Amino acid sequence: MSTHADVLVIGGGIVGVSAAYYLAREGLNVHLVEQGDIAAGSSYGNAGLVTLAHSTPLPSPAALQKGLRWMLDPTSPLYIKPRPDPGLLSWLWRFRAACSEEAFRRAVPVLGALSRLSLDLYRQLLDEEDIDAIFEQQGLLLIYLTEEGFEEDQQVAASMREFGLTSDVLTGDEVRERVPQARADVVGGVYYHDDAHIDPAGLTRALAERARARGATLHTHTKVLGLEVQNGQVARVRTTRGDFTADHVVLAAGAWSPLLAQDAGLSLPIQAAKGYSITVRRPQDFPEVPIILEEAKVAVTPMGDWLRFAGTLELAGLDMHINPTRVEAIKQGVRRYLHIDPDAEPLVELWRGLRPCTPDGYPIIGRAPRVSNLIIAAGHCMLGMTQGPGTGKLVADLVVGREPSVDIMPFAPSRFER
Ligand SMILES: Cc1cc2nc3c(=O)[nH]c(=O)nc-3n(C[C@H](O)[C@H](O)[C@H](O)COP(=O)(O)OP(=O)(O)OC[C@H]3O[C@@H](n4cnc5c(N)ncnc54)[C@H](O)[C@@H]3O)c2cc1C
Repeated sequence: MSTHADVLVIGGGIVGVSAAYYLAREGLNVHLVEQGDIAAGSSYGNAGLVTLAHSTPLPSPAALQKGLRWMLDPTSPLYIKPRPDPGLLSWLWRFRAACSEEAFRRAVPVLGALSRLSLDLYRQLLDEEDIDAIFEQQGLLLIYLTEEGFEEDQQVAASMREFGLTSDVLTGDEVRERVPQARADVVGGVYYHDDAHIDPAGLTRALAERARARGATLHTHTKVLGLEVQNGQVARVRTTRGDFTADHVVLAAGAWSPLLAQDAGLSLPIQAAKGYSITVRRPQDFPEVPIILEEAKVAVTPMGDWLRFAGTLELAGLDMHINPTRVEAIKQGVRRYLHIDPDAEPLVELWRGLRPCTPDGYPIIGRAPRVSNLIIAAGHCMLGMTQGPGTGKLVADLVVGREPSVDIMPFAPSRFER
């Protein structure tokens, strides 16, 4: 016996849940399978930024320049655990090719369009649905310890105006007026007006409930064991709680997507990039604005009674163990910019998650080559919370055959086959 669905969504992170929600809104019979609870993966404890200002690809000229220096230093913001993995080597090769100035400039408006669509959808969701989760649109403040970093980013801010992003440049004293915890060493800041922030787990779960209210069936603690492909179609999806057949299958399993895509003969170049967060009780007077400690690459996000510090990027495969050196690097970063010692504040939770990163910095959204009823929606790297609802909407457009509202060609899964 198997369960039949119009659409089976694999993965209960922000991407899968958003897809299930928008598909259910189309009146389709939607089933979602998730191996743990909703938001068990990287959509749980991330920094929760819904960001236009940082809607830039991971590969960039700066990543190439600094990344080479950082790569083998376990306390740096980017660390690659040396391992003999041909998938990692070919990923790094493609990543290097995507670090050119030209590729970066091409990517910014493409990623920005998907992020903007998502931000509009978040606002619409908050208006139309009874969503009980934190969503604040208070902008994003980047702060600096070095004149060099501050100057570089003033130029970035000027070029971002081209894409309609407004920002203010602040002196160190102006930063301290807004953020009383900022240290005297902070030389300045750039404040972007339009960004928002959310409690990622709360929002993903609330959206899953809205999908359920619109008729989607959510199967948690149901692990997909494999896809059976026959005659160019996913004919069956085997899970720990029985088999499913479906007219369309959406693969939204984040960093784990390549494991399942293999069954469909697809080699998805997604590397897991581990990051950590430390959530503490929010110190009194901490403002509502999220902050990025730019040189340290640490995000500081207020979430109601909590304050979350998140950062580091470690290419270490699907290994989930917590590396204390990386956690300490985040805490050290915080102490350098703010009069806050994360160890002195009451701990709410220490967490790690795996960002699903593609080598060119674009997510993978579209129909799988050679398997006509399989849609891939994965690989959002550092922007999955930002781009989740937009991706879910694009998946629904693909399933019902509607012209998508943003150009999805750059996201095509087939681009890695050329
Ligand atoms: C430290 C950190 C900070 C971040 N900060 C931000 C931020 O501020 N803003 C932003 O936009 N993004 C941020 N991100 C990135 C963001 O978290 C991810 O891009 C996003 O969560 C990806 O969503 P997803 O739904 O694709 O994957 P996930 O949330 O990982 O969901 C995939 C789901 O698939 C399930 N799954 C896997 N295999 C199977 C299987 N075989 N069967 C059934 N289910 C399966 C998993 O359990 C998981 O729940 C951050 C990430 C980290 C680690």
